[in-house]
Amino acid sequence: MTLNLFSPLCDNYTSNSQKIRVLTENWVNEHVYCPNCGNSIDEYENNRPVADFYCKICNEDYELKSKNSKVLGKTIADGAYNTMIERIRSETNPNFFFLNYDKTNYEIVNFLAVPSYLFVPSMVIPRSKGIPNQPNYIMCNIDISSIPNSGKIFYIKDKQIQSKNKIMDEWDKISFLNDSSTVQSKGWLLDIIKCIEKLQRANFDLSDMYQFEKYLKIQHPENNNIQAKIRQQLQILRDKRFLKFTKRGNYEVL
Ligand SMILES: [Zn+2]
Repeated sequence: MTLNLFSPLCDNYTSNSQKIRVLTENWVNEHVYCPNCGNSIDEYENNRPVADFYCKICNEDYELKSKNSKVLGKTIADGAYNTMIERIRSETNPNFFFLNYDKTNYEIVNFLAVPSYLFVPSMVIPRSKGIPNQPNYIMCNIDISSIPNSGKIFYIKDKQIQSKNKIMDEWDKISFLNDSSTVQSKGWLLDIIKCIEKLQRANFDLSDMYQFEKYLKIQHPENNNIQAKIRQQLQILRDKRFLKFTKRGNYEVL
């Protein structure tokens, strides 16, 4: 894997957006492997509405979004709002690859994969301005800041290339959120994982988690026993090997 996006391929294009599309797609095609099974991925033919890349071994689809910026930031620009919402709601929604690069030297700063099942419609933010002459055609941004860190699988993080084992382990570790056994409680589990990540340490106890009671009550106003719900979700996270219990009321992130 290399950080450099540049290739003579782009000489045939005059438009900057086309150039960068060719360069980023070419880079992914050459360097990125499927985080689910480790095999190489292939590019769909142009203008396939499904996604940009696929893995012929495990059938996962990947859509690439890139951003000209030295920092990844909180949002990434996407296309039409309604199309994105439909996609997220459909059963065939793709996984995403996000890439940000420094345009001064065509160097990739971050490249990450996010599994499809972590996307919810509230992450798609309409942009206020429509396209000129098509005011009803609303574009959107994807709010990546609301994705838990455990669901952001970095191949390149701040220009550091990550190992294949680490990438595949991280992809696998969060995949329990796609199990039929957890689908009902996915919203709660995601919130609890985000609270654990806010603590920024590997070991914590129940009182640390109860600090989030008010915040969680706002997210889930229908629930009248937040503390019990926190304990129940921590048990699920233990069963799914996201955590382990060290002693009574103490937890360790694995
Ligand atoms: Zn695969």
